[in-house]
Amino acid sequence: MATGQLTIDLDALIANWRALNALSDDRVETAAVIKANGYGLGTAQVARALARAGVRRFFVAVAEEAAQVREVLGSAVEINLFSGHMRGDTDMIHDLDLVPMINSIDQMLRHVEALPGHRFGVQLDTGMNRLGMEPSEWDALRPIAMEQEVTLLMSHLACADEPDHPMNREQLQVFHDMTGGFDAPRSLSATGGILLGPEYHFDLTRPGIGLYGGRPFEAAQPVVRLDLPVIQIRDLDPGETVGYGNTWEAEEPSRIATVSGGYADGIQRILAPRTSLYADDVPCPVRGRISMDLIGVDISHLRHDPEVLTLIGPDQGVDDLADNAGTIGYEILTALSPRYSRRFSQG
Ligand SMILES: *Cc1c(COP(=O)(O)O)cnc(C)c1O
Repeated sequence: MATGQLTIDLDALIANWRALNALSDDRVETAAVIKANGYGLGTAQVARALARAGVRRFFVAVAEEAAQVREVLGSAVEINLFSGHMRGDTDMIHDLDLVPMINSIDQMLRHVEALPGHRFGVQLDTGMNRLGMEPSEWDALRPIAMEQEVTLLMSHLACADEPDHPMNREQLQVFHDMTGGFDAPRSLSATGGILLGPEYHFDLTRPGIGLYGGRPFEAAQPVVRLDLPVIQIRDLDPGETVGYGNTWEAEEPSRIATVSGGYADGIQRILAPRTSLYADDVPCPVRGRISMDLIGVDISHLRHDPEVLTLIGPDQGVDDLADNAGTIGYEILTALSPRYSRRFSQG
């Protein structure tokens, strides 16, 4: 088998949810965001593990993502939809009993017309200008919403990963202004907001990245390990080159392992010059360009030929890779290839 092996530690996932849950008061519900295939790890297994740990409410981005969650968890959990009620979603919202987070007047009209009496939440824009109703829209709709069963009033912070950013307080104030006097549960915080402290917790928090072991939840346990099998090993003489474009040339006799994995698997080409794979705890630098399915790795200094090399593991986490690629852990996780074989470990 030549596919990379992704090992997902469900105990760590659950420990991370418990740790985030423990950061807020007992009265605050801690939901879980499992959009984008559970941040790349696998919707079904992630959802099942979190439900067993006590999660009762899940968030996905689009209605299509909810089908699998409903299938594996049954009717006992609530599934909320960030994208709200889009044209064409009515049957899914009804049949799968989803709760759309209504983002605009158009969506609100569509929802109450198509599914009168069906529960919904409202997403408010408090300054990020991404999703949700602006204050003026909300003012117009508030009286109508007051008469309906609104399950949640939510908004999202733009700069929560920077605790000192003035935007956090500004959005907190706008959220208070927009929701004051309304008798529905409220939610403002994802992972970053939870870490900002109790003022930001309201009735429900919506962590995503922290569950999966990523920044800004520095205390998170790592959840993901990625091992790439070595397909072939060869010796190079000085002056020989590795990979497309001859970008790396051996200066001394070298031993190069070709591992299975490449940019088609989410291992971005930009990682090449400064990233190593690990043989246990020994770093082995990438040589030459990363191909679609293959990477050359320098193992000249190893005493044994390895069968696998580790790209994500104890010596190099998701955020280390993100730093090397000039991106964020979210992007590394959600780009994890569907081609990897996924092993879910739970003790
Ligand atoms: C993705 C998302 C979350 C989860 O955010 P994390 O930073 O991953 O914790 C919460 N709320 C909304 C609206 C989101 O889009």
